[in-house]
Amino acid sequence: MTVKRQLSMVLDLNKCIGCQTCTAACKLMWTNRNGREFMYWNNVETMPGKGYPRDYQNMGGGFDKDGALRLGKQPSQEDYGIPWEYNYEEALMTGTDPWLRPHVKPTWGANWDEDEGEGDYPNSYYFYLPRLCNHCANPACLAACSRNAIYKRQEDGIVLVDQERCRGYRYCVNACPYKKIYFNEQISKSEKCIFCYPRIEKGLPTACAQQCVGRIRWIGYRDDEAGPIHLLVEKYKVALPLHAEWGTQPNVFYVPPTSPPKFGPNGEQLEESRIPLSYLESLFGPRVGEVLDTLAEARQAKADGKDSELMDTLIGFKHAEMFKLS
Ligand code: SF4
Ligand code: SF4
Repeated sequence: MTVKRQLSMVLDLNKCIGCQTCTAACKLMWTNRNGREFMYWNNVETMPGKGYPRDYQNMGGGFDKDGALRLGKQPSQEDYGIPWEYNYEEALMTGTDPWLRPHVKPTWGANWDEDEGEGDYPNSYYFYLPRLCNHCANPACLAACSRNAIYKRQEDGIVLVDQERCRGYRYCVNACPYKKIYFNEQISKSEKCIFCYPRIEKGLPTACAQQCVGRIRWIGYRDDEAGPIHLLVEKYKVALPLHAEWGTQPNVFYVPPTSPPKFGPNGEQLEESRIPLSYLESLFGPRVGEVLDTLAEARQAKADGKDSELMDTLIGFKHAEMFKLS
């Protein structure tokens, strides 16, 4: 789908510390009320893990190899996790309940399997994967909507739901393979990440990027050849989409995580990476190995006291310079 300009985000997974500040910033701004309590327009998952909603990677959706739309599964409320409140009044104020407890039995939630990862000591591993709507160039949510309620803005490619047109059919939820569009039962309409467009229109970055403690997020336009997105995605080609094979052409890209070496049976360091390359390829495609080599070379150049435009960009010395919004 052609638009005049496309706003994009790059996230460096080597810098994410899993603090969830982005998640809290997004939630407080957009989804902490009015039927949106279970929604996380931005969330940060521990990988390998089941993600949010639970097992979303196996729910289908997106497009097949011939470009035909696939309607996947709709997550259940249990797959998202039922939001709960604590009995603060009884446990902490009146003393009528000796235990502080949630009012429902928790089943799942965003980052439920936090820091579990895979492998056994000393070769266990995990990394964090922040996820938001990809504001795809070929959005499956839009293709699935029989009401033409979902549209992509010409000026920046942000994908939005026209709340006047939406009738709550939920085909979009089935179709999005990333499960980043949600059904709000209170108003019977679908809702999703709006890429903080009211902030973007004022020249401000999204709340998740502004608040990011690790400075892992860059925002800019794909066609801005002097901007960080072009540099990371097109020039150095170190930022890759998540599950490109799902066919939606995401506009959120990830610098894949580098990994410490594995240890052998006698504690010796092996050549092999602790995070299996095949696992990273299953997420970010066949170019991951090449990207990791480029990152290693740039890091070595910097360590040797040489210039590296790529490493200087990835360090992100000045937070404000990570956003180029004009
Ligand atoms: Fe639509 Fe999902 Fe792509 Fe977002 S990630 S634009 S909700 S298909
Ligand atoms: Fe990762 Fe930044 Fe979010 Fe913290 S705020 S979890 S560092 S993306």
